[in-house]
Amino acid sequence: MALYLFVQGKSWTVERRHELVGGDARPEKVEASGLFLFFTAADGEIRRSEIAADFPEEPAARLLESVWRFAEVMRVADLGEMTSRGEIVMPRMRDVVREFARAFRLHCPNCGGGRVLRTWFKLQHRCAKCGLRLDRGEADDYFLGGMFFNIVLAEIIFALVLLVVVIVMWPNVPWAGVEYSLIVAMIAAPIVLYPVSRLMWLALDLLLRPPDEAEMAWHASEEE
Ligand SMILES: [Zn+2]
Repeated sequence: MALYLFVQGKSWTVERRHELVGGDARPEKVEASGLFLFFTAADGEIRRSEIAADFPEEPAARLLESVWRFAEVMRVADLGEMTSRGEIVMPRMRDVVREFARAFRLHCPNCGGGRVLRTWFKLQHRCAKCGLRLDRGEADDYFLGGMFFNIVLAEIIFALVLLVVVIVMWPNVPWAGVEYSLIVAMIAAPIVLYPVSRLMWLALDLLLRPPDEAEMAWHASEEE
């Protein structure tokens, strides 16, 4: 039966094998065989530890973990080899500008393809050009972060418009009019900025967790 161990942020497959011990240096022991546990991680790291013949077939996780801890490292994982989904990366400024500019033009942040809106308040299920599911196939509340962009954008526009009005009209600023327009603007902003906020959230997510080939294949594989 297969055993698994989760330790130090990695999942290890545990295998029990007989191996020859000794070797050329100790000819008297060359025929002796030992029982070993091999721990193999997904990134290729392998550890080996000799165990007693009466080591339990179904050891408790704590026992496995202590064997793992003292195991000999046979192969070290190559650092940087893991670019799994979910790993956070530091995006390049060029990509940040490009993906946010696409979102701002209401295009797919991933490929720049257009027509990603079904209605003003609903994105298409997927991008017609690159196949990316626009919620990345995640939970219903994926776009909660879009609300953050909505608020930030609304605040920035609010401040800029107010500044321009005051500078242009100074000293005869129609304060009552400014106040009413700002109230209207604050009500309208979340509606006007709705789709762009969602796409900016998607852009940020794609920048921090770039989709790999496996993910894009997974997006493409889905039945309509
Ligand atoms: Zn796309």
